[in-house]
Amino acid sequence: MRCKLCGSIKTIKISSIAVSSIKEIFPVRINLERFFIGNSFDLYQCQVCGIKSFDKVLPPDSELNSALQGLPFYYEESKGEFNYAIEVISKRVPKKILEIGAGRGYFLEKLKNSYDVRAVESSDKNLMFLQEKNIKLDEKGLTYDFICAFQVLEHIENLTDFLSFCDEKLEVNGCLLISVPNNDSPYFTETINVLDFPPHHLYQFNEKALKYIAKVLNQEIIEYWQEPLRIEHYTCMIRARRNKMMHRFPFIRRLFYIMDYLLIPYYYDCNREEPGHTHAVLLQKKCS
Ligand SMILES: [Zn+2]
Repeated sequence: MRCKLCGSIKTIKISSIAVSSIKEIFPVRINLERFFIGNSFDLYQCQVCGIKSFDKVLPPDSELNSALQGLPFYYEESKGEFNYAIEVISKRVPKKILEIGAGRGYFLEKLKNSYDVRAVESSDKNLMFLQEKNIKLDEKGLTYDFICAFQVLEHIENLTDFLSFCDEKLEVNGCLLISVPNNDSPYFTETINVLDFPPHHLYQFNEKALKYIAKVLNQEIIEYWQEPLRIEHYTCMIRARRNKMMHRFPFIRRLFYIMDYLLIPYYYDCNREEPGHTHAVLLQKKCS
């Protein structure tokens, strides 16, 4: 399998996953077979850039996206990555900001009264939300000195085209902020989050892969940011450990779930050093 981020053929198959295991725990009832070629799919890791990519899968379509977007937890109004981006924007004070994959406009809504903001969005439903919030859309020929894309890259089939679009829209010395789920986080290594697999996600990014985008675009890395581990994700990790330890004793395990739930606020430390769900890289376009 050729790597879709760096183009290398030095990719190694690290696992094979049964489609049935995804179907069993997928959070929405939808025909999933059409996204898979066969009864299983493979996970490969590139030895050059570090990205993990799934093979024998098709990208998410509008029906799947619309079903998932209806889930109450899918779009959050406030997120650690939004706060981080606002911190960066407050320091750099860009003139024109573009968010690619703006969803319901929760991030741009926070900025629209202070900055000139525009959005790129493909879902018809989300375009209505953006219109209601008076958030303007990107237009052909416009360029920006700050571009951000939160939780978008892991869904995109053609990474080269997407990154080239970001680069074309970015002015020289402008900044590009990209956030994706953090594959180095114990939340992803210890738990099985079905939404981090196809057909929802096509890639998993560790720190090396996320930073490799700078090489692909010939841009400079200004900063790398990791979200701290959130209590809800820590709770999922504890639940996964409990399942592993007590899988033969379902009744007692349920009693421990209650105990864990009651005790987690006491032993969760919000200053934990482990990386959380999301990480981001801030890049700057160099003078050519
Ligand atoms: Zn690669």
